[in-house]
Amino acid sequence: MTSREIRKNPFTGEWVIFSEKRQARPDRKEGECPLCVGSEEVPSFTKPLRLDNKFPALSTEGEIKRHKMGEFYEKMNGYGICQLVVYTDKHDSEFLSLSPDNIMQIFEVWMTATKENSLNPSLKYILPFENYGTDVGATLIHPHGQIYAFSFIPNEIKREFDTIQQYREKNKECMVCNYISEELDKDVRVVYHDESVIALIPFYAKYAYDVYIYPKRHYNFLHQGTRSEFNLMIDLLPKLITAINSIFEKEVSYSLSLHQAPLNTKNSSFYHLYFKLHSPQRNTSSLKLLGAVETSTGTFINGILPENAAAKLRKIMM
Ligand SMILES: [Zn+2]
Ligand SMILES: [Zn+2]
Repeated sequence: MTSREIRKNPFTGEWVIFSEKRQARPDRKEGECPLCVGSEEVPSFTKPLRLDNKFPALSTEGEIKRHKMGEFYEKMNGYGICQLVVYTDKHDSEFLSLSPDNIMQIFEVWMTATKENSLNPSLKYILPFENYGTDVGATLIHPHGQIYAFSFIPNEIKREFDTIQQYREKNKECMVCNYISEELDKDVRVVYHDESVIALIPFYAKYAYDVYIYPKRHYNFLHQGTRSEFNLMIDLLPKLITAINSIFEKEVSYSLSLHQAPLNTKNSSFYHLYFKLHSPQRNTSSLKLLGAVETSTGTFINGILPENAAAKLRKIMM
């Protein structure tokens, strides 16, 4: 086996990434930060910057090669991109305390990366994300996020994209636009909304406080947004994280991912962009761990109804 490859489950169609090199990641000595100014990778800092991950799970070295071996075995080399986005030169800061201008600069990095990667026809999906805390795998303290680009549309996104596409073909309308407007009418799971943004906990949430944040206007890629839409979004995102922290009375681990349309894919304009804020925190003292039901069936048991979770968050946000 090469150090990185991507294999398909013939029973479910899902792709799994294998990356043996990642296991050789060194444990860093205390006090040694590779993202602080003066380090090899960050000689100076003026605004958020992208760096190649030194230990990437995916890489664009060489051409993408797909192999089908008989009926059951399909794989490709571990083609893709793993990058870091350094947010600030302040080591002890965090996403939550960045200024709106600083978050806008991070949005600009995400937009540039999306445009750049969409020029590579072998890449099908890009995932920029902010993650905070060891419970979601953030290993470096220095405020940073990551960008992954995949040579395939990841499993859950693919199912969602196909459903939205089928709905569009049948109804000639966007399923997400219709869903948002229905949620606004019902007004029981909406955590916040203004003229351009809506945040809600979905009817079907797997985790207690998974919040989906949609622009009310239909667009597919972040660079299609306007400055006034960004301003409202940038104001809202840290407030939502703070509200979740206040429910659990501590700084929880979370991820905030940007879901845009697939790259280099037909009919991608059907897709409606959103941010997903996820925390594995279940109550003040414990995380939602995946038990036998979740790992064996993919079916989740959530300990709080989204309507009740949304009511708690809404109260704090007011
Ligand atoms: Zn640092
Ligand atoms: Zn839409």
